[in-house]
Amino acid sequence: MRSSQDADPARMLRRARRARLFDSLARIYADFPETTCESCARCCFESPGIFLVEYLSLIHLVAQMPRQRREALLDRSFGELFFSWIEPHRQCIFLESSRCTIYQQRPLACRLFGLVAPQDRDRAEAQARLAARQEAERLRLFGIHIPEAVVQRSLAGCDRVRDTHGRPLSVDSDAVAARVARLDAALLPQEIVMQDFCFRSLPERLGAAALGAETIDGMRVQLLRRAQRGEPTRDLIALVLDQARLPTSLRQKKGRRR
Ligand code: SF4
Ligand code: SF4
Repeated sequence: MRSSQDADPARMLRRARRARLFDSLARIYADFPETTCESCARCCFESPGIFLVEYLSLIHLVAQMPRQRREALLDRSFGELFFSWIEPHRQCIFLESSRCTIYQQRPLACRLFGLVAPQDRDRAEAQARLAARQEAERLRLFGIHIPEAVVQRSLAGCDRVRDTHGRPLSVDSDAVAARVARLDAALLPQEIVMQDFCFRSLPERLGAAALGAETIDGMRVQLLRRAQRGEPTRDLIALVLDQARLPTSLRQKKGRRR
């Protein structure tokens, strides 16, 4: 196994349940200070990076949702995975009517937003923009035009998060991330967790599990070209979903999707 992206979700989910990792994750979340903010949802401009244990917990949550809702989330997930590079106005797959639909279970990255020290926040922001610029240049070599608004999309942190007394606050983001990474280490060898420490979003993790991590990039290039030639992304997403080997818990119980 080369990375946590290759992890088989069904097997990992069984291991996570046996080891009661979701209870441990809930305890880490519960240790966060209570905060308030202006609830503008600007920070929900894309699906957040998540740890493996968070991915499994969210897959478990999505699997219990009604079929229609689950289908909508899968559509959004594959839409983000393949088309976020050409659509400046995408948003997190869990945001609906400017509301987080999984607020109680939202991942660590969302809880940390607005609580990270300014120097760490600025560094992460600069790295995200640089990575976006490099990827845009690479995709341009394949004839795909990436709008500048996409490259600039990453959000400079937020300074409007307050504690319940209205005071600004910060948390040690490295320490809390290390606590969650330790849960991942109960699922995968330590060296893979360390090598793979960076967050990956639910669309990225789900796409890798359903289509194979090594095929995603080639598929993205093909699909972006077709979208830029005018094929509706809706139809292209349906094509991808037909090929996807979805985790058992997310598969349709009966009939075809459309
Ligand atoms: S953390 Fe900031 S950007 Fe996010 S919803 Fe609150 S006020 Fe808006
Ligand atoms: S999970 Fe919720 S809080 Fe986090 S980015 Fe998505 S909608 Fe926003």
